[in-house]
This record gives sequence, structure tokens and C-alpha cells, in this order.
Amino acid sequence: MQTIGVIGAGQMGSGIAQTIARNGIDVLLTDRELAIAEKALGGIERALGKLVDKGKIEAGDAAATLGRIKPVGDVAPMAQADMIIEAATEKEAIKQGIFENASKVLDENAILASNTSSIPITRMANWSPDPARFIGLHFFNPVPVMALIEVIPGLATAQETTDRVTAFAERLGKEVVLSQDEPGFVVNRILLPMINEAVFVLGQGTASIEDIDKGCRLGLNHPMGPLQLADFVGLDTCLEIIRVLQDTTGDTKYRPAPLLVKYVEAGWLGRKTGRGFYDYSGDAPVPTR
Ligand code: NAD
Repeated sequence: MQTIGVIGAGQMGSGIAQTIARNGIDVLLTDRELAIAEKALGGIERALGKLVDKGKIEAGDAAATLGRIKPVGDVAPMAQADMIIEAATEKEAIKQGIFENASKVLDENAILASNTSSIPITRMANWSPDPARFIGLHFFNPVPVMALIEVIPGLATAQETTDRVTAFAERLGKEVVLSQDEPGFVVNRILLPMINEAVFVLGQGTASIEDIDKGCRLGLNHPMGPLQLADFVGLDTCLEIIRVLQDTTGDTKYRPAPLLVKYVEAGWLGRKTGRGFYDYSGDAPVPTR
């Protein structure tokens, strides 16, 4: 694969673009508007600059990586892409529009992949020209750091497609876990009920934000607590995933914690908005309750 299209230039799309370009592959990056993709390129430049400052990569490699990422105003240039990866907002209607649009330009041998955290791959494959070339490719946040990619074939995905994206993931230096197309796949099926339960624990006044996170860090040996992790993922994304788990299984054990809904309704979405369970406006995060 020589050229990859990435649709959605938020925290995941930016990280995906950076990681792919770092491994010598050209990236076409788009969002709702060209300006958003250009702003994302600025963020990637700053991230690469920090890696150079820390001595983790050479300045020349950082410049070459940046040079491989081209912000584009729409999907038209992605006609030349070997694969298009969708990494836009976790809303089914948004993804449907994106796939229908991308399908108009998708090369007859190219793969269409979704970085969705939870929306069924088999269902989304219907919005592509060829479900055999549609697949879930689930990166983890922050993409340049996290070693895992989940590969999720839908019911109609061809084995060749699974093999090609697995080889691609390995070329990025990632480890692959293969998951069937079941709600939440593997990791989020386990993680999101934990995050949701942590918000119930907070909402019921059982413990403070700090103590819930401290309890899980020290008691479970997790590198960060569930509320800090929720801020990192994005509370809107967490809520969408838990709702998809609830809707697709019909199981009430996945009902969203009311306090999670409230935070999202307040626009407190975590790190990306500067405030979630913690306030990120100062030097160190401060709990908001
Ligand atoms: P984000 O809010 O940071 O970014 C979403 C981006 O999608 C925004 O830049 C938005 O402008 C863009 N977008 C919205 N509508 C669009 C459209 N019609 N066309 C093009 N772009 C559009 O969210 P994120 O955290 O980057 O999540 C993106 C996807 O990755 C979601 O499906 C999410 O579930 C998944 N994901 C997130 C994480 C995580 O930890 N945040 C981890 C793995 C997967």
C-alpha cells in the first residue's frame, strides 16, 4: 500500500495519519472542511516536534513524515488511495454519509475501512460498493504510542481483505487482535462497561474522582484510572459506544450512567474540550467534582 486516505482529522484521524506517514506511506487527510485537516496537520507537526525534542526521532524523519501527509478538501483525490480509513465522529448517520461519498471514488481494488469503536461492520459494509473489501480497523489512542490494532471482518469481508489489512497493521509496527463483528469487538466490550460503572460509582457518591482513579491504578495495576481514561477517549465517544452496546444487545446492563449523559450534554467531553472529569486548563489536571 502506497497511499492511504484518512477521513476525519480529529484525535484519532491525526494519530492514524501520523503513524502511517511515519512508516513511509503517503496520506491524504480530510475532514468536514479543508481548514480542519490543515489544523490537524499543524497538531501533527507539534507532536513530531516534541518527539524530536525528546530525541525519539531525527528532525529529518519528522520533516519527511510531515511531508507525506497532504490535507485535502474532499474525497476526490482518494481515487488514487489503496485504502480509505474512516475515522470520523462515532455517529452512524455521519459514517453512512462518508462511506456513500467515499464509495464514489474508491478504486476497484481498494479497501474501505472504519476505525469505529462499536458500530457493526457488517451493517456499515452495505454503504460500500463491495462489502468483500470493507473491514473494521480499530486503532487505539494515542495511535503513535499504542501497540494494538483490532481487525474486524464483517460477515461479507473477504479473507484477502483481512490478510491485506493485517499485513498493513504489521507494517505500521502494530500487534493485531482479530475480533468477530460483535458489539464493542474485544477491548471496548470489556472497557466501556468498566468506565460506565466508574461513572455510576461517582454519581452515587461512593468515592471521589481522584479516589476512583487511584483505586483502579493501585488496586488493579492499571496505568490510568477509568475516569481519566474516559476523558482521554472522549466522553461523547464513550457514551456513543455504551449506547451501541445497549442497542445492539438489548441488554440493560449497558444502560449509560446518567452522570455520563449529563457531562456530554454540558459539552464537557474530556481532554479534547479541556474539561471532562478533570479540568485541563492548568499545568496539571484537576478533578471537577
Ligand atoms: P474526534 O471528535 O476527535 O474527531 C472526529 C472528527 O470527525 C472531527 O474532526 C470531525 O470534524 C470529523 N467529522 C465529523 N463529521 C465528518 C464528516 N462528515 N466528514 C469528515 N469528517 C467529519 O473523535 P475521535 O476520538 O478522533 O474518534 C473518531 C473515530 O475513532 C470514532 O469512530 C471513534 O469511535 C473512533 N475511536 C476513538 C478512540 C478514542 O480513544 N477516542 C479510539 C479508537 C477509535
